[in-house]
Amino acid sequence: MPAALDPAPRLPFPYRPEAEVVAASRRLLDARLDWAAVIAAARPWVQAVRDKPAPFWALESLLREYPISSAEGLALMRLAEALLRVPDAETAIALTADQLGRADFSGEDADDGPHRMLAQLSASAIALSKKFLPAGAEPPGLVQRLGSRTVVAATVRAIQLLGRQFVLGRDIREAMGEAAAQRKSQPRLVFSYDMLGEGARTEADAERYLASYRHALDTLAAGRVAASPMAADGISIKLSALFSRYEDAQRERVAAELLPRVQGLIDTAAAANLNLTIDAEESDRLELSLALFDKLAAHIAARHPQWQGFGLAVQAYQTRALAVVDEVARIARQHGLRFMVRLVKGAYWDGELKRAQEAGLPGYPVFTQKPHTDLSYLACAARLIEHHAVIYPQFATHNAGTIAAIVQLARQQGAAFEMQRLHGMGEGIYREVLADGALACRVYAPVGEHRDLLAYLVRRLLENGANSSFVHQLADEAVSAEALLASPVEAVLASGGVPGQPLPVALYGASRANSLGVDLACEAMRAPLEAAVAATAVAPLAMHDATTVDAAMQRLDKGFAAWTARPVAERAAVLRAAADALEARLPEFCGLLVKEAGKTLGDCVAEVREAVDFCRYYAAEAEHKLAEQALPGPTGERNVLRLGGRGVFVCISPWNFPLAIFAGQVVAALVAGNTVAAKPAEQTPVVAARFVELLHRAGVPADALALLHGLGETVGAALVAHPATAGVCFTGSTAVAKIINRTLAAKDGPIVPLIAETGGLNAMLVDSTALPEQVVDAVVQSAFRSAGQRCSALRLLVLHEATADGVIEMLKGAMAELVVGDPAELATDVGPLIDDEAHTAIGAQVQRLEREARRLAETPADTGRFPRLLAPVAFEIDHIGALKSEIFGPVLHVVRWGPGQAAKTVDAVVDAINALGYGLTLGVQTRIDTRAMRIADRARIGNVYVNRNLIGAVVGVQPFGGEGLSGTGPKAGGPHYLFRFCAEQTLTINTAAAGGNAELLAGLA
Ligand SMILES: Cc1cc2nc3c(=O)[nH]c(=O)nc-3n(C[C@H](O)[C@H](O)[C@H](O)COP(=O)(O)OP(=O)(O)OC[C@H]3O[C@@H](n4cnc5c(N)ncnc54)[C@H](O)[C@@H]3O)c2cc1C
Repeated sequence: MPAALDPAPRLPFPYRPEAEVVAASRRLLDARLDWAAVIAAARPWVQAVRDKPAPFWALESLLREYPISSAEGLALMRLAEALLRVPDAETAIALTADQLGRADFSGEDADDGPHRMLAQLSASAIALSKKFLPAGAEPPGLVQRLGSRTVVAATVRAIQLLGRQFVLGRDIREAMGEAAAQRKSQPRLVFSYDMLGEGARTEADAERYLASYRHALDTLAAGRVAASPMAADGISIKLSALFSRYEDAQRERVAAELLPRVQGLIDTAAAANLNLTIDAEESDRLELSLALFDKLAAHIAARHPQWQGFGLAVQAYQTRALAVVDEVARIARQHGLRFMVRLVKGAYWDGELKRAQEAGLPGYPVFTQKPHTDLSYLACAARLIEHHAVIYPQFATHNAGTIAAIVQLARQQGAAFEMQRLHGMGEGIYREVLADGALACRVYAPVGEHRDLLAYLVRRLLENGANSSFVHQLADEAVSAEALLASPVEAVLASGGVPGQPLPVALYGASRANSLGVDLACEAMRAPLEAAVAATAVAPLAMHDATTVDAAMQRLDKGFAAWTARPVAERAAVLRAAADALEARLPEFCGLLVKEAGKTLGDCVAEVREAVDFCRYYAAEAEHKLAEQALPGPTGERNVLRLGGRGVFVCISPWNFPLAIFAGQVVAALVAGNTVAAKPAEQTPVVAARFVELLHRAGVPADALALLHGLGETVGAALVAHPATAGVCFTGSTAVAKIINRTLAAKDGPIVPLIAETGGLNAMLVDSTALPEQVVDAVVQSAFRSAGQRCSALRLLVLHEATADGVIEMLKGAMAELVVGDPAELATDVGPLIDDEAHTAIGAQVQRLEREARRLAETPADTGRFPRLLAPVAFEIDHIGALKSEIFGPVLHVVRWGPGQAAKTVDAVVDAINALGYGLTLGVQTRIDTRAMRIADRARIGNVYVNRNLIGAVVGVQPFGGEGLSGTGPKAGGPHYLFRFCAEQTLTINTAAAGGNAELLAGLA
């Protein structure tokens, strides 16, 4: 068993202020770079490339005509990403029609010139294609369909040709043959082969990738030992391809399962003296990758101390890049080794920004201005060159300015190094750079079949097509050589290093701050959480009974007048103070949620954040929406609409979000001017009590809010039936909502509002254009996170028959990798069910399904490890209508649709889902945009999510709530919610009553 990975943080905090990090890079470079010399070296390369434009078949030609910022470029990219994997003609036609239908490929603006030929050819082909394609997403007549098939076949062929530009060969032998051909004209060229594919989702995927890496190494070695890895070909590997759980939270499994796989590859590469480089991936894997690298270095020191071919890629766009370079050098020195380090800028920039914003992180782990990345690249290059005794630097870039600067820096130190480029990119620049034969160059060469190419192809299309990209600007004659080669040092001096994007906290502008999240892969941020969980114990809380309800209601009734009379701004200020206090006490509340509700750490953080967001959102909404509104009318009269509280609102919340839903209901009712009787779920009163204390401390008066913990049948029933109750806000089961509704209807006195948010039979409709990996990720999160105990959770997966088997196979594999266990452990994906009663009831429902349906998969789990665990399980059913009731646990139903099934079309699927009667969440996985819209329009569903999971609605971003059996609305966290808690008053004053219209006569009105 390999030693565990060192958990000690080796790098600085990832979210330091950008300006501070940029300033450090600038200081490091200040005295070293002569930018005038950089320009002098690079300008002739740029000029030569512009004088000899790319051949007609080159990607640059196409992207110049159709940049990704245009509808046409986007259509091409989308088709390239999806079309080749669609197995059925019907869907392929719909996808092609959908994408080509919204773009203008008339090509009228195309200039003359041979290099435009491809663009023009594509333009005419595509324009012609459009004539044959059906107007809507679904094809009508036979003749048209025959035409459509031809068009689709041509489009597929065009995309295959596009893809070919980036792939050296379909297998390693073909790629080596092509490499040999290229070496005829450039003998010093070496290659690093990359076996294409998505990251592994299953053990079978990982084994396949491992076999293909091994095969590539064996084929490259062919029994020979290379003289030096610097002069020999090698391979690049992705750790996420070799292990489906290559995540910080799974450190122990990474050490036990991934480490030996990489060691095996290292042994083969070292024996043949080849280069083996680990590609750089997302920033939340950075620490983990270094911990693994350290262990691999120890292995190399013990087994292959002379080998100098092991390396990794370092991304300069990371704020921690310089520290990574130093850390790699430290590891090399510690083990007496020399490594290769490939310096790149980084390929996941857009994804890193999205993740940081969604997670509410304190900053970005990457730079947000292009010159900052360029500067960091040069600073890292300088550092790598300094470490050249223990590092062989490899500079991967297509940017002429960057290349010229590197050459200058390296020559100052007399260091050996190589340049690197991607196959199919930057060929023009490298033709010039390498012309005098002075520089060594390695080509990163993808190898694979068309199906495996897609994700890689799209990354490269984005890279080439992005406005900020060097390759894109080089092709744009409007960008002068001076602008193209502008110094990043100068740019940073001018900008002062200010970020180019608002920080995640500022996502919602001035109206409210985004709640602060936690990067669980960052030890410094995770530690307080783990300490709080360890220190928390939950003691039982005394219950109320029906006899104490009346006294509490009378007190709240009396308190109403004073609270509702407070100006809205004051009530909103109280909510904001509560939000700040809760945010500061996030670890403590996470501790409570783990211990009382059995939630996993990730779920706890998300829940506290949601509660914080509710407070800030409703505060802002109240100030904005509940202000007195003047209405138009005749002269001599003043009309205003005023909104205020209704009285005592009863808020009844469930155990599955004991903080977020509880808080959302209570603070909405309070800020609208009501006093609140809050009844938490019987299973989770402590977290509610702690939040109520927090609200009181933040300024909610004692007689405006009371916690009434007790049984639903007694306390809940008494609250609903109480004469002082002016409204009820309830989240829970449909059955209880109906009981509440009947109780309210049976009461004498005023008819009061009921806001009910209830369950769902939530489906995800997947067509054959969807990417199986994305589908499986979304399904696993939606069906099994929180052990399926969310009203939004996925219950029914509806798969297109053409791709269903493949998706099910991958789903099985992904379910096999889930960790079921103690929610306090970071590695746990699926925690326990809420109580014994639920465990018994859901266990019985699973037993029923074992008889009535076909079991597809079950997560292997030691359910005796922790109380109330239930292994995630999936069953196949025959038709959508067979799903009768919500199973509130990790139980998924799967059904097929398509021409050979009960539901034959998309419309039939949606109708069958509508017929279930619920209407809470619906997932759609398709690349056909018009189809997604058609589904959304037809579905009687409150929240429709396209190409993502269906859980984790964000306050103010995805207002949440359903229709039909799923609830009354208005949506929680949405712009209409507060109104339902309000009484309205129209105030009309006849200002002319006292004698006449003085204002009019005085000329003031
Ligand atoms: C041989 C080779 C191997 C590679 N291996 C990897 C790898 O293992 N992992 C990996 O992640 N990438 C890898 N890449 C891709 C690389 O990270 C770059 O995306 C790509 O090379 C473009 O950089 P450039 O210097 O050629 O072009 P440039 O146009 O000069 O730079 C583009 C890059 O700048 C950065 N950028 C763009 N806009 C902004 C902004 N607003 N703020 C901050 N930064 C911005 C991004 O990193 C973007 O990719 C590799 C590239 C090569 C050539």
